[in-house]
Amino acid sequence: MLKKLFQSFRPTVRGPHHQRTTPEVINSSQHSLQRGQFSRHAVSIVERLQNAGYQAYLVGGCVRDQLLGITPKDFDVATSATPEQVRAEFRNARVIGRRFKLVHVHFGREIIEVATFRANHPESEEENSHQSSRNESGRILRDNVYGTLEEDAQRRDFTINALYYDPISERILDYANGVHDIRNRLIRLIGDPTQRYQEDPVRMLRAVRFAAKLNFGIEKHTVAPIRQLAPMLREIPSARLFEESLKLFLSGQAADTFEMLVDLQLFDPLFPASAQALEDHPTYTHTLISQALINTDLRVKQGKPVTPAFLFAAMLWPALPTRALHLQSRGMPPIPAMNEAAHELISEQCQRIAIPKRFTMPIREIWDMQERLPRRSGKRADLLLDNPRFRAGYDFLLLRESAGEETDGLGQWWTDYQACNESERRDMIRELGSRDDGAGAGPRKRKRSGSKRKRADGASGE
Ligand code: ATP
Ligand code: MG
Repeated sequence: MLKKLFQSFRPTVRGPHHQRTTPEVINSSQHSLQRGQFSRHAVSIVERLQNAGYQAYLVGGCVRDQLLGITPKDFDVATSATPEQVRAEFRNARVIGRRFKLVHVHFGREIIEVATFRANHPESEEENSHQSSRNESGRILRDNVYGTLEEDAQRRDFTINALYYDPISERILDYANGVHDIRNRLIRLIGDPTQRYQEDPVRMLRAVRFAAKLNFGIEKHTVAPIRQLAPMLREIPSARLFEESLKLFLSGQAADTFEMLVDLQLFDPLFPASAQALEDHPTYTHTLISQALINTDLRVKQGKPVTPAFLFAAMLWPALPTRALHLQSRGMPPIPAMNEAAHELISEQCQRIAIPKRFTMPIREIWDMQERLPRRSGKRADLLLDNPRFRAGYDFLLLRESAGEETDGLGQWWTDYQACNESERRDMIRELGSRDDGAGAGPRKRKRSGSKRKRADGASGE
């Protein structure tokens, strides 16, 4: 009732679809947010900037998440102050970024991002091209044209991310009907979807990320152009896609995210080799990747550490056998073929997603461990147990088995071995030798190539 009355007094000058020049103002009595829910550092930054005569608000994910009862990951501030003016206000502030300049204000381990209001880009390249630039497909290369609060709201990606909360007056400003979309649980781009994706194709990944994180639907005009524009992701710098892929797969909703990415054809430009494997061996590849992601999500929810290396190792593993067999068919022996395939696969993947060396090394180690786990005779089993990568390698073995790879009970053997005492372990090793399965005794050379070939075949799974 109160809200209705309030709305009827306000001249709502509305621009094109979901754009307004005056915001809907939601007073403290009309929403559930409270100043105390927000980081006190973020609130104090807003207060300080306002006292210095600037406009300043909490914005983006923190407002959206609090309205949904989710604890925000971080707190973003939007202000009319330029980065230099912000820096002048705080001792602990650093200007960062080139494509998108902003200020990090540090409070011990907490970092608050303070961004200056930005305007949408002029369509034509004008004299201010050192502040703003686009490439020929419309992609924004630099985004440092400052603007008003109204303009800042319009250049944000989704309506639910364009809510501004003033912790002093405790009012929310809504320029894009974001509150409406939060109520209806919808991810909706502000403005023309095709144009907004062309400006920044990563918005397609963000749509999926927020849909999975919030369990929202993607509004139909927002989802419509994605399949066709998905290949534009190939133009995005690989370092940015690495950052984005961590957010996609390490936020606790990776399994749902994966399904959506595949469905919207966004998986292919991110992981081309894995997408090919998904076509060649759909059941096996899909089971292995989703099982890896389900496990990852579980660990995230339990607060256990997760490593990107394990994740990328799983993503790429189904693509490995085809590569290795191809190299073998050109005359390369199995072991070098496998190593070469692993090397090629990782370097190709890094062209799309720049996986840092500190993670590519462990990917190789997890894979190498798969060749070593079957070879348990003599002291080998104990040496493997002491290897710092044993745990990841063993988990990976169980993952392969859960996707239907035939390993002759190897996972169970290692599970038992870890649970045994010294003398039981010696018995287990002795028994191996007597089984003469090629993994225990025998001339070293033959044995190695034997187990290698077994994996190359087994890994194709279907
Ligand atoms: P979370 O931090 O939970 O991942 P978020 O919405 O805060 O979600 P950020 O990446 O921190 O996401 O970005 C902060 C805000 O900046 C967003 O809410 C959105 O308003 C704006 N924004 C971020 N990336 C883009 C983009 N590519 N295009 C337009 N606006 C963006
Ligand atoms: Mg954020």
